[in-house]
Amino acid sequence: MRVLVTGGAGFLGSHLTDRLINDGHQVVVLDNFITGNPSNIGHLKGSPSFELVEADLCDGIPVDGTFDWIFHLASPASPIDYVELPFETLYVGSDGARHVLNRAVQDNARVMLASTSEVYGDPLVHPQVESYWGNVNPIGPRSVYDEAKRYSEALAMAFARYKGAQVRIARIFNTFGPRMRSNDGRVVPAFATQALMGKSLTVFGDGTQTRSFCFVSDLISGFIKLIESDLTEPCNLGNPSERTILDLAEHIHRIVDNPAPIAFRPLPEDDPTRRKPDITRARKHLNWEPVVSFEDGLEQTIDYFRNCL
Ligand code: UDP
Repeated sequence: MRVLVTGGAGFLGSHLTDRLINDGHQVVVLDNFITGNPSNIGHLKGSPSFELVEADLCDGIPVDGTFDWIFHLASPASPIDYVELPFETLYVGSDGARHVLNRAVQDNARVMLASTSEVYGDPLVHPQVESYWGNVNPIGPRSVYDEAKRYSEALAMAFARYKGAQVRIARIFNTFGPRMRSNDGRVVPAFATQALMGKSLTVFGDGTQTRSFCFVSDLISGFIKLIESDLTEPCNLGNPSERTILDLAEHIHRIVDNPAPIAFRPLPEDDPTRRKPDITRARKHLNWEPVVSFEDGLEQTIDYFRNCL
């Protein structure tokens, strides 16, 4: 297979690229490095299975030939990134997705869109099942991301209905692992880096809000199973093991002996109160579920950040 990965130098994109190359595919990574990191794919330089194209997807896809699969992962994806890059986030979810979908139709390629649990907003249904339409503030600070992803799902479904595009939609829940940026603001890299530096862990709000954390290798195997499947409806991919942010802080304190007390900070606007995927659909149609325990994933992630310091 010849595969295009937009955002292939990012956290998820680079792990996906590694997996595809290991599976024997040819991969073209397209990235403009606004949040992606060249070092995530540096080890692939010189590989005959790998090509890097530095370009802004919003201007099109300046790559010849045809693709068999396309993964559209390009987007700022952490709350601090998309607040700092609001227009880039909106445009890559709209113009970028349009270029990807047009190319998929042109090449008769399968395309997987990286959507998000943020389409459920601050959910009123728990755990979140794909049939739930969500509770999103369309004008709040997170809306640049949430609505861009909701729009790209709508665009993908229109391409599937009216242009015959072979679309797969992954609704990705919180994922963690090596190659997250230590300064991307997300809770695992934030806490891991703070703990390793002997600083206070910054818990937003009272820490009773919940998330369900999936280790990156599990998510990537879900991507492959999804694009190989016949499932044309959106599919939640995440680990249903739900925990509070305070519990996460305590876990990290257990791994990294850090005497600094927790520092409570104000909860950001529209921060979802609870989040947990219902993965019945992924279990049934993809025969997929996470296999890496939270503890093992956290050890590997903390080791990665330890080496980065
Ligand atoms: N969070 C926190 N301290 C931090 C960063 C995040 O308490 O330094 C909280 C944040 O308010 C949210 C949860 O951790 O409730 C997950 O945040 P993250 O940015 O990782 O992802 P989100 O699920 O909000 O997109």
